[in-house]
Amino acid sequence: MKILVINAGSSSLKYQLMDPDTGRVYAKGLCERIGIDGRLTHKVVDENDEAVLKETREIPMPTHSEAIESVLSILVDEKFGVVKSLDEVDAVGHRVLHGGDKFIESCIVDEACKKAIEDCIPLGPLHNPANLKGIIACENAMPGKKQVAVFDTAFHMTMPPKAYRYAIPTKYYEEDHIRRYGFHGTSHRFVSKRAIELMGKPASELKVIVAHLGNGSSLSAVADGKCQDTSMGLSPLAGVPMGTRSGDIDPCIVEFICNKYGMTPSECLNMLNKKSGMLAVSGVSSDFRDLEAGAKEGNDNCALARDMFAYGVRKYIGAYAAALGGLDCLVFTAGVGENDGKMRAQICEGLEFLGIKIDPEKNKKRGEECVISTPDSKVTVWVIPTNEELMIAQDTAELCRK
Ligand code: AMP
Repeated sequence: MKILVINAGSSSLKYQLMDPDTGRVYAKGLCERIGIDGRLTHKVVDENDEAVLKETREIPMPTHSEAIESVLSILVDEKFGVVKSLDEVDAVGHRVLHGGDKFIESCIVDEACKKAIEDCIPLGPLHNPANLKGIIACENAMPGKKQVAVFDTAFHMTMPPKAYRYAIPTKYYEEDHIRRYGFHGTSHRFVSKRAIELMGKPASELKVIVAHLGNGSSLSAVADGKCQDTSMGLSPLAGVPMGTRSGDIDPCIVEFICNKYGMTPSECLNMLNKKSGMLAVSGVSSDFRDLEAGAKEGNDNCALARDMFAYGVRKYIGAYAAALGGLDCLVFTAGVGENDGKMRAQICEGLEFLGIKIDPEKNKKRGEECVISTPDSKVTVWVIPTNEELMIAQDTAELCRK
């Protein structure tokens, strides 16, 4: 089976054509500058995910439709294609940011599904319109092809009300659906499921914390394979400080800044989303590698940014261990979690009281599935590379086979 996985953003669109059963990727790429001019970068990859062919094309992409057309056309291209005809593509899986409280799992795209994604636009104003455009562009380009929507929020829908409600007047929840939703759900689901498999025990006996640490970061507390709590909220701005996002702040700060600097709430939120976090504290970069290099050269602000990140993540681990009433397994994933051993060690420093003991030698590994805790560590600490595209492809295949 071959599934096309699409992740449509407001001006970009990522894609992968893959086998959902083996995880083999045939081709992948990115459309950029949609609505501006348009560039397609396409790679044909081998079994080891190494690019064997690369192609970049400047193609006018006034809308997502032209972007999808360019992807479909290069997939069947004589030189750079990986299929003879689009009939070989069995279905399309779409990453959709916000499913509100309507979607607890992935679903086949039909009129009701599209309407629900549209209804969630107020909750995901930056991403849902783009996700919907990606779906409609595929429908137009490949009429009749089955499509599946996989929601970033769905995995978190098992949270109990005590975790997802905000302590604000009830009408905002009942009428406006303001509550904690959480994001990166496809990654949290993939990684927690894999951790449970690797631990070799029934899900009901395992308390797991997943730390998805990348440019955007979130943690989740998982018991019995189900999400109990997560650090992001109504939007991905909440939780730990991130690459360019502030994470949790006192809401009064918004009013203060708006009043003093004559900003609108949207301008202030844009600053909190795009100009804050590691970038703001370091004054150098949002990339953790640059912060490490800066700290090594004696830049105190780079060191402070990394300290703040490690401290923020450590506090969530403590909170979630308390929320779960214990901990069996801590998992690091995503760009920083998979690659930055120093950060993992810094986060776990002082968590010995919870039964977390990191082996410095094992912790040197990067980007591969491995245990990094000592044999006598009560909590098993894993690095598990995330694969959201594979999870989307697997959900798509499963729903299409039904
Ligand atoms: P993601 O959002 O999961 O793609 O993660 C991207 C982030 O991971 C980048 O901004 C880097 O800060 C971080 N990252 C990637 N590779 C490394 C590495 N080798 N060492 C430290 N950080 C890394």
